[in-house]
Amino acid sequence: MERTYKTQMDAARQGIPGARDRDDRMAEARKNLDWDAQYAEALDPERAKAIRDSRLPEDDHSDTCSMCGKFCAVRSMNKALAGEMIDIL
Ligand code: SF4
Repeated sequence: MERTYKTQMDAARQGIPGARDRDDRMAEARKNLDWDAQYAEALDPERAKAIRDSRLPEDDHSDTCSMCGKFCAVRSMNKALAGEMIDIL
């Protein structure tokens, strides 16, 4: 996923038409932890999905990725902004 992200950023920097809009959609999907939307915007959706599927997070944290799992900063921030409790213990 990281490689796909960097490639899209490179495309945006190089002025490829539509790359910036696509990168903005990817950023929104990432903020929302919307994995299907991230796959849809990825340059190689099948590879991105295969990587995530091979490294799924622990049980109750399927909205995050396996890097931070229950400590996902994006998830915690979304909950904080929604006025919800953040329980990472
Ligand atoms: S688990 Fe970590 S790397 Fe994954 S989306 Fe959340 S903050 Fe980002």
